[in-house]
Amino acid sequence: MSADTASWFNEVWPKGSEQPFPDWSFRMQQLVTGIVASLPPDEAQELQRLSPVVSVGHTFSTGATSRLASGPSLQIVFDAGLIILIQAYIRAAATRFLPVTHEGSRPSEFWPLAKRGMGTMLDWLFSPDETTRCPRFDASPEQVRRAEILTLFAIRFVVCHELAHFILGHHGPDTPRVPSDRFPGNIGFTGPNTIDLEVLEITREMELDADSKGLWLQQASLPDESQVVNGLAGAVYFLHASGLLSSRLMFRSSFADISAWRTPLTHPPTLARVAFLMASAQEMYQDAFKGLNILHEGLAELDQEIHEAASILQSDVKEKMHKYLDDIAGTPWSNTSGIDQTLAELLRASPIGVMEVLRGETTSPKTGPAFGEGPRLVAVKRIRDTLPLGFQRWLNRL
Ligand SMILES: [Zn+2]
Repeated sequence: MSADTASWFNEVWPKGSEQPFPDWSFRMQQLVTGIVASLPPDEAQELQRLSPVVSVGHTFSTGATSRLASGPSLQIVFDAGLIILIQAYIRAAATRFLPVTHEGSRPSEFWPLAKRGMGTMLDWLFSPDETTRCPRFDASPEQVRRAEILTLFAIRFVVCHELAHFILGHHGPDTPRVPSDRFPGNIGFTGPNTIDLEVLEITREMELDADSKGLWLQQASLPDESQVVNGLAGAVYFLHASGLLSSRLMFRSSFADISAWRTPLTHPPTLARVAFLMASAQEMYQDAFKGLNILHEGLAELDQEIHEAASILQSDVKEKMHKYLDDIAGTPWSNTSGIDQTLAELLRASPIGVMEVLRGETTSPKTGPAFGEGPRLVAVKRIRDTLPLGFQRWLNRL
């Protein structure tokens, strides 16, 4: 990233505007070692022989993957953005499901800002920015505490899902590989930090089997009986968090480069995954289906509200962006470096909203080239030239 691009991001996302989340890089290894150690001997022995290694990096796919490296050892790679997404999603859910005080309302007073924050996060996930960003939003200490427990079990489930791929033989020599150059970038943009990966071409059936076996591993390795519900719920939360991402992609498919999203799209739709998972849970515990279905329906409503919040946020930003252009059209361009405060705030809230307005203004018959370089078009071009290169390219493709 060039120095200019870095300072551009610092201005759009000033210090303190992003949600502070605990760094999971150091906890992952402990987590997988703990899971393997708590499994029944049959499963544990084979996994111990492979000494699974987990790392957190930037893979630009907002997912997790695993591979058998020479040695052999089993490597599980977690995208850092996936962890941020899971944490933010479960924290937002806590502000909706849990009241702040005993007599408090549900959703709680923190929910409106939380769902707006999730909307912003989804918007940025579809931008060429390489960092997964979540704006700051508050939650009560009890909501935070509950969210942290469920986040642990959601992340734990992803680890178990990856271990399950191995146990089920999905890493076998017959499973086709996707060469690393086809590993998806962030909607068609591959960043310079992309790690070299050869990922397995996993079928939908394999994914469902890995969910089912993964859930079994999750429950078989629980620290104690009191965590049974958290283990099951964590898996459902994870499926919904990742489903939110892919369904948003569908909404935005008009400009997203879906061909670059190969791996996430091989995953079955959320509904199929949740239904299959609930059936697997029912085989382990009586009444698990019923309980998980209540959670699933609650989360489906929550997802819907996040999508609505994201759309409202985008329209709101578009309207403000038009007003902003009215205000700056024809004003002299100050030579002081940096982005205008108003523009920075609009970009932070919804980069897609800002980009769509800039794009619309460039091609509109009222302001477009046919009318010559009117003051409004000059303003649009001035803004466009201050964008990082990735964003300029994105704008051209919208
Ligand atoms: Zn998988």
